[in-house]
Amino acid sequence: MLQKQKIVYCMTIFFAVLILFTGCGRSDTAARTETAFALDTVVRITVYSEKDVPAAQRALARCQDYEAVFSRTRPDSELSALNAARGGTVSAELRAVLECALDISARSGGALDITLGGVSTLYDFTAETPAPPAAEDVAAAMAHSGMDGVELAGSTLTLRDEHTVLDLGAVAKGYIADRLADGLRADGVEHAIINLGGNVLCIGSRPDGSPFRVGVQVPEPGSTENAAELSVRDGSVVTSGNYQRFFDYDGVRWHHILDPETGFPVQNGLASVTVTGPESLRCDALSTACFVLGAEEGLALIETMEGYEALFLCSDGSAYRSTGFGAME
Ligand code: AMP
Ligand code: MG
Repeated sequence: MLQKQKIVYCMTIFFAVLILFTGCGRSDTAARTETAFALDTVVRITVYSEKDVPAAQRALARCQDYEAVFSRTRPDSELSALNAARGGTVSAELRAVLECALDISARSGGALDITLGGVSTLYDFTAETPAPPAAEDVAAAMAHSGMDGVELAGSTLTLRDEHTVLDLGAVAKGYIADRLADGLRADGVEHAIINLGGNVLCIGSRPDGSPFRVGVQVPEPGSTENAAELSVRDGSVVTSGNYQRFFDYDGVRWHHILDPETGFPVQNGLASVTVTGPESLRCDALSTACFVLGAEEGLALIETMEGYEALFLCSDGSAYRSTGFGAME
């Protein structure tokens, strides 16, 4: 009798394990991440069904098309042509990004400044031995920056200063994430995460209906720890940080978010700003603007933006959050 019970028990375990493994092998439940290097960053698209993999691959391929529009460094991009011609007729994609950038720039008192292209090229974060740019080079480039030199009337862009170089690095990835999400949804994808080097956009929820968990990294280079964790359903989480692109020189962190008043990296005690909201483009524009503004003014800006929330992490370990931060489900 005891022997019989043991056999039944063993068989139950055997079938349970079999079901478990068959379940794991089924493509519907397994997450699949497709990866590519594009837009100067690692792009990851995670889907939860084998049938969605081709859609994820198509989305990755579209990153190249967007690079051909928004790249500041590619001489054949639409942006480079506009910079060279001091404006012209812009595509629908560029127009949408410019409109948002102009709007957030105005709301932030110019903290978001897309005319800093001449200055940002002076910083080479990937050089073997990076060094700060000469102050006179920064001053010379700054003489050709300023949002008042940018005019957008419908689809007609005018750059008043012939040496102004637009840099859409603070906003383009957010826009691209939104459009990749549109493409995935049109392809019938209901559950996915798009990650453009830290610009995260979640489509729907996890397949079991629970929200995605998105971590906000402790703002130190290479950290695998999270300072906060968010539950996200259909929304975006975008972080601007001084640890994402930087070099250390003479004990000073030279990072990629520039103060439009000086042309030098912002030094206001902030290490990162994370913005959540429905549109990744706005989250991206706001995260950069808020980093430049600092915690106090940044919080004031965020509180005027319905549906958008922010977490400010300072280098000394202190943190500030907007009233609704964390409630994204
Ligand atoms: P993000 O990572 O979205 O905060 O964008 C930072 C990137 O935007 C930099 O790598 C520069 O290309 C560009 N940038 C730097 N400072 C500013 C600024 N104050 N306003 C707009 N774009 C900026
Ligand atoms: Mg940004």
